[in-house]
Amino acid sequence: MEDIDCAVIGAGVVGLAIARTLARAGRDVIVLEALEAFGTETSARNSEVIHAGIYYPAGSLKARACVQGRRRLYAYCAERGIAHRRCGKLIVATTAAQVAQLEGIAAHARTNGVEELSLLSGADARTLEPALRCEAALHSPATGIIDSHGLMLALLGDAQDHGAMLALHSPLLWARATAGGIELRVGGEEPMAIRARTVVNSAGLHAPAVAARIEGIDPASLPQGRLCKGNYFSLTGRAPFTRLIYPVPESAGLGVHLTLDLGGQARFGPDVEWIEAIDYRVDPRRADGFEQAIRSYWPGLPDDALAPGYSGIRPKVGGPSIRRPTSSCRTPPSTASRAW
Ligand SMILES: Cc1cc2nc3c(=O)[nH]c(=O)nc-3n(C[C@H](O)[C@H](O)[C@H](O)COP(=O)(O)OP(=O)(O)OC[C@H]3O[C@@H](n4cnc5c(N)ncnc54)[C@H](O)[C@@H]3O)c2cc1C
Repeated sequence: MEDIDCAVIGAGVVGLAIARTLARAGRDVIVLEALEAFGTETSARNSEVIHAGIYYPAGSLKARACVQGRRRLYAYCAERGIAHRRCGKLIVATTAAQVAQLEGIAAHARTNGVEELSLLSGADARTLEPALRCEAALHSPATGIIDSHGLMLALLGDAQDHGAMLALHSPLLWARATAGGIELRVGGEEPMAIRARTVVNSAGLHAPAVAARIEGIDPASLPQGRLCKGNYFSLTGRAPFTRLIYPVPESAGLGVHLTLDLGGQARFGPDVEWIEAIDYRVDPRRADGFEQAIRSYWPGLPDDALAPGYSGIRPKVGGPSIRRPTSSCRTPPSTASRAW
């Protein structure tokens, strides 16, 4: 059995960032990735938005980490030449009743330390984005978009420059804590047995299953993982927007919003769909609900302009109890309001 200082399980953006930090601190690190490449699961199935930190509960760790992390992420992008754009975002109130809600969101975001926010009238918002229909908007210039693969490449490069090793096709099968360290049995093309002093479980959607494979952990202490799928539809043709457009969040989530990729291509989503098993297919029938929601702030959305895009799955430790085998879109207000 080979001894190693640290084993990081999972090479998504979280595992790679942790491996980089450990390696830069002088630790010996191996990253075990089950699949044939790094960053192909949730880290490759998201909106690639650099969030400003608007919604998280005031004073929470998430709020602090998002605001500080965003500042550090922009600095890291500049230092490492990672493609990104500080394109800004507009949260739009489409009814008079939502205007007060928008003012509440602005006050909350300022408490969180989000900079440069401004509340705009509908007319002022239309000078920025003429295709928009809204009563008022909250402008967050600090929000941006990033090439998530470029970010992961940079994190991996830094980790490897400091001696970290990435082992692909290397799923963690079983582990046991002993007095001499944590023994790990790794499968794949070249099965191995290693003993590590520190083990980090960053297996994303599979983290609860990985934790359940570690002998000695009381199963009752493990959170039950829930799968919260987000579907995207892409726009055929160009969108007349240069900023990200979000409706005022409702109890059913952040609403169907428009994000842009670095090439300027628009996509809408993610919505919220609680599921029981990993399934990335996007049901084209969801397009009707998307169209209706989008037209509330973009009346000019052409007919039949939405094509099923991709989906990602949020690993959640809370959520509704799922009663039906294939759930349609059912959304608990408590967790969905924090869904991306
Ligand atoms: C729809 C959606 C939209 C999102 N939008 C945004 C956004 O705009 N901005 C933002 O900041 N965040 C966003 N997020 C969140 C962000 O994508 C995630 O927080 C992040 O990607 C999680 O990374 P991870 O490394 O934890 O997981 P993953 O990327 O899933 O990585 C986990 C890795 O572990 C590996 N693994 C699993 N089991 C094992 C095993 N037994 N042995 C070895 N390896 C294993 C997997 O193969 C995988 O590579 C979004 C998420 C979703 C779902």
